Parts: sequence; C-alpha cells; structure tokens
Amino acid sequence: MNAPSHGPVLLVHGGAWAIPDDVVEDHLRGVREAQAKGWSVLEKGGSALDAVEETVAYMEEDEVFDAGRGSFLTSDGTVQLDALLMDGATLRAGGVGCVEHIRNPIRAARKVLSESPHVYFVADGAERFAAEHGIELIDNKKLVLPREAERLKKAGPKQRIGEPDPTFSATSSHDTVGAVACDKNGNIAAATSTGGTLNKTPGRVGDSSLIGCGCYADNQSAAISCTGWGEPIMKLVLAKWTADRVAGGVPPDESARDAISYLHSRLKGHGGMIIVDAQGRFGIAHNTPRMAWALRTGSRDDAGIEIS
Ligand code: ASP
Repeated sequence: MNAPSHGPVLLVHGGAWAIPDDVVEDHLRGVREAQAKGWSVLEKGGSALDAVEETVAYMEEDEVFDAGRGSFLTSDGTVQLDALLMDGATLRAGGVGCVEHIRNPIRAARKVLSESPHVYFVADGAERFAAEHGIELIDNKKLVLPREAERLKKAGPKQRIGEPDPTFSATSSHDTVGAVACDKNGNIAAATSTGGTLNKTPGRVGDSSLIGCGCYADNQSAAISCTGWGEPIMKLVLAKWTADRVAGGVPPDESARDAISYLHSRLKGHGGMIIVDAQGRFGIAHNTPRMAWALRTGSRDDAGIEIS
C-alpha cells in the first residue's frame, strides 16, 4: 500500500481483534469520523503532530473504543489510562501512564511534549502536571460505563506466570486507538491512547504509551502506532524494531507485515500496526481477524476492518 503522493497522509486505527458483526458499523463510523477530524488539520496545512493529537482525542471521546471514557476496567473497577505522542521532526515525545482523572490523556501527553523537559509522567505526578497545565481533573466514575462494569464481571481468570494471557487471543477485544500522519512538509508523527487490557492489575502499563513499543516517530524512519496484546509488543520493542527496518531500506508496508509476523513467530503475539514515513509511504498490518482502520491521502479516502 505505498502512496505515490507527497501530500499529507493520515492513517487511523481503532483496535485489532475479532470485531463482532454487530459493532462493525460503530467501529467504521468511529475511525472515519476521527480520520475526518485529523484530515481537517492536515488539509489546512497543520502539522502531523497536531493532526494525530486531534484524531486520537476525538477517539478518546468515542465510547466505542478502549480509550478515555468507555475504557476497559482494572480489576479494581477503575479506569486507568495510558497515552503517548511523538514528533518525528524533533523526536520530542510526551507520555502519561496510569492516569485516572483525565478525560483526554492524549491532551496531557501533548502538554508533556510541549511544556516539559521530561518525556513521561505517571499516576499522581502526571495528573498534577496536567492540572498545572490547564487540564481539568475529573472523578474516575465519569470514565466508567455500565457496559464495562458488566464486562468486568464476566472477565475470565487473570493470567498466570508462564501461561498465555487468557484475556488476549486474536479474537478477544482490544480497542486501543492510534494515528500516524505525514504533513505537507514531510514531517511525521504518531499517537496512541488506551485503557489497556480488561481486568488488568492496577498499575499495569502496556505497550501503547511506551516509546518504541506501541508508538514511535522519527522523520528518518517512520511513524508507527500499534494495538494488540501489549506484553509481547513491549518485549519486542515492536514500533522501534519496525522503524529500524524502514531506516534500513525495507518499505513501510513490508516492514509492518514483517513486524506482525515477528510478533507471532517470536512470542505468539497478536495485534496490528499502522505506519507512514516522511515520503508518504504507508502500510497497515494485523494478524487478528479484523482491525478497524481509516486512511486519507490526497487521492484516497478509505476505511475498513480487513486489509484487502
Ligand atoms: N496494547 C494495549 C495494551 O496492551 C491494548 C490494545 O491494543 O487494545 O494495553
């Protein structure tokens, strides 16, 4: 799926799993709307960084996805959110982990990127930083949906050491959101936001908000956002692994497919990935039955739940 275009490119994902038929339309609507939001930034000449922030913030507001309000619950019944965004032009990055009182963690992550000499804040410190930079703190209950309380009640047993995570198969629900973009100046950026995994132990952080794991961007290689079973993705530092292949000359679409094959062959992991480089070349790969995605370039406006 290489784009000949040198104009802007935006790719969005809304999780990779066996999205059931009855929620396919919701997922497609969600990724299409988010793509339109991000594209409106790029078509006005805005930066890739602003575009991925707006795209992901929009999806955090959409209760269909495991990000912001409507996220999966921890075993304590709370929402704990992780998010990261990264600017490929400068390698500046901003991340927050385990935040419980922020409606749009990607906005807090952007404040970390833009207004802090640091890269990553967690828990209370992240919330304090966010509040000091104008982000409202809210009651955790406002992020919890009855649908998710029900889902938690039905959750299976937790993973035991040495065994695969029972909550993570190729078919189980992972609705993390992400976006990658290339702007008209050839700068790229990536953003990923998640509520993590169902029934996670409080304090657990997955791949999504860790640099080089679930999110990475460097103009000299690629911008990448991942979704799926976080622990294997983290162990393989999969986004950076993929970016390094692009830097080594492998086209982005092939690098993404290689990464997802490697995820499975090395650790039996499941998930998906979106990628774009500074030439506007892009790719989508997943080894789950479905993955919600939307793409916009100067000549294409597409969305789907499988890769044709
Ligand atoms: N990767 C996320 C995590 O492990 C989950 C997902 O992609 O839905 O936290």
